Amino acid sequence: MKPLSPNAVLGIVGGGQLGRMSAIAAARLGFRAHILTTEADGPAAQVAHAVTIGAYDDHDALRRFATAVDVVTFEFENISADGLDLLSSLCPVHPSGRILRISQDRIAEKTFLRDAGIPLAPFHLIETGSDLAVAAETLGYPFILKTTRLGYDGKGQARIHTPEDLAPAFARLSPHPLVAEGMVDFACEVSVMVARNAMGEVVAFDATENRHRNGILDLSLAPARIPAGLATRARELATDIARALDLIGIMGVEMFVDRHGGLLVNEIAPRPHNSGHWTMDACPVDQFEMHVRAVTGLPLPPATRHNDAVMKNLIGPDDMALWPRIMATPGLLAHHYGKAQARPGRKMGHVNVLFPHGGLPGEFGVEDALGPLASPMEVNGEINGDADGHDVGGDQGEHSP
Ligand code: AMP
Repeated sequence: MKPLSPNAVLGIVGGGQLGRMSAIAAARLGFRAHILTTEADGPAAQVAHAVTIGAYDDHDALRRFATAVDVVTFEFENISADGLDLLSSLCPVHPSGRILRISQDRIAEKTFLRDAGIPLAPFHLIETGSDLAVAAETLGYPFILKTTRLGYDGKGQARIHTPEDLAPAFARLSPHPLVAEGMVDFACEVSVMVARNAMGEVVAFDATENRHRNGILDLSLAPARIPAGLATRARELATDIARALDLIGIMGVEMFVDRHGGLLVNEIAPRPHNSGHWTMDACPVDQFEMHVRAVTGLPLPPATRHNDAVMKNLIGPDDMALWPRIMATPGLLAHHYGKAQARPGRKMGHVNVLFPHGGLPGEFGVEDALGPLASPMEVNGEINGDADGHDVGGDQGEHSP
């Protein structure tokens, strides 16, 4: 692939904060971002060179968009198969439709990863009540039942503790089929951002430790506080997956560190990822620039980190009420997504706090550094706010985890 020249147009499907930050990174490299979005005044549209307004399955809008850009990428993966085929017939699309299809469907994703030799929690495809009974027998209680499509931020899943939970959870979760997964007794959750370009260069950022609140990412600590060998292994796994997929672009790989010090991959997201936002201030080249470089055919510099960092999400009206204090607190590096309305559970922005390389403090130090945003960190293992299977947080219809 010939690298795109400055002033070339990068098409981004999706108008949320990931599109916004990708568009800003693209502009820094001299590219023009053209956004396909349903929201004329959304986070990405506000900073873009051009915008096509239309639904992601509106063929007319897709056609207008694809013919106005030099390459297409995504800020979310849930675009229809039809839409993908149409885009791919009109211009280069990175990552490929094949990768998006794999990541859209938990069963396709888990099957691909298992076949690539990637360690995963045991899983079963659930099409009928009797599939579920067999899965319960094999996995034992408790286990997790998830939708295979359109689940994010812990939505669309239920914890099954007893046989009595089976039928109600099967009836509540939709669409079917579902996937039943062994419950992982994890010490912590980590993720790795990995990028690969068409020349086959692959770079992986340091593993990040992720803490959730009410089923939504709350804090990311970089680097993850896990043994060095495990951190290296996490990056190797992410690199292996990027190679196995022939990825062109960036991808987040979420993993569990189990109590025996093993790594199990939970899911992949072939796009920039909330758990990679710390790279914006702690790395010379952040996840968004790496993404833009990968999809435009540019070389990938090393994914080095000059600082340790903590990223805190700003969610909903309560966090946004603190914005004036955040602005007045030195050391809080704030990123606002430009959303006009702070609804509960909505990701409005994030704050990065930097520490010297190797100087990430313990729990209390992190709280101190967050100043007005300090709140007791949640205990690992209680991070999944939908323990009863209820949908939590998030913004219905908002798609950027
Ligand atoms: P997911 O929708 O797969 O990203 O899951 C959301 C959250 O649920 C994860 O971040 C974990 O905290 C929790 N979770 C998901 N799958 C499992 C599992 N197999 N075992 C334990 N916790 C899980």
